[in-house]
Amino acid sequence: MRCTEIRKCLNGIGNAVYETVGVFMPERCAVCGRELLPGERKICIICLGDIPRTYYGMTCSNPACEKMTGRIKAEGVMPFMFFRKGSPYNRLVYGLKYRQRYDLGRFTGEMMGDLIFGGGEIKEHIDYIVPVPTHPFRRIARGYNQSRMIADGIGKKYGIPVKSGYLKRVRFRSSQTGIRAEDKWDNVSGAFETGYTLGPCSILLVDDVLTTGSTLEACGLAILSKEPYIKIRIATLAYVE
Ligand SMILES: [Zn+2]
Repeated sequence: MRCTEIRKCLNGIGNAVYETVGVFMPERCAVCGRELLPGERKICIICLGDIPRTYYGMTCSNPACEKMTGRIKAEGVMPFMFFRKGSPYNRLVYGLKYRQRYDLGRFTGEMMGDLIFGGGEIKEHIDYIVPVPTHPFRRIARGYNQSRMIADGIGKKYGIPVKSGYLKRVRFRSSQTGIRAEDKWDNVSGAFETGYTLGPCSILLVDDVLTTGSTLEACGLAILSKEPYIKIRIATLAYVE
């Protein structure tokens, strides 16, 4: 059995255990921990109403897109919620990244999709969704790529193909977490390449957290250096101001 097959098998067992336990354990709100009521999914109705949303549209006239200005050409940048020190909503990110809660990626992805496409304004302009590849060691330890889970949530609900093999990580250094902001660019510069050609199209580049923007910049440059005609929009679950 090859390494990738063993990994898939272990991931499958892990997911099956999580889902089986879920049948016997009452589901709790991923933010406040209260037992969910019938009709509630993942997040209770109270926490759902208080999500610290950025309310940024998919435009370039917001602080998140300004962070990327002059680095890559993006048609718009839309982070869904703020990631602020001490916020209980950070549990959505921690759960997704560190606690096997891949379901939170899909759930929040659906909500992000509703905001991006709910008005029906730009759906026709997005041909593919491209998740940012995670560090391979993290991918193996976690069993999934958290950005892919968010991308799947958006793509499934709105019928847009997710191209998870398009961007590849070709240089492996440590995770971005815990690295000084000034060192993040050195850590990811040149770390990504495209695996094939998409042709002229519009894509939605999806990541979990936008902090310095270094990872998204490196991904964007990798795409535009090979296919400069591609129009890129960016959506992230969380945003660090
Ligand atoms: Zn709650």
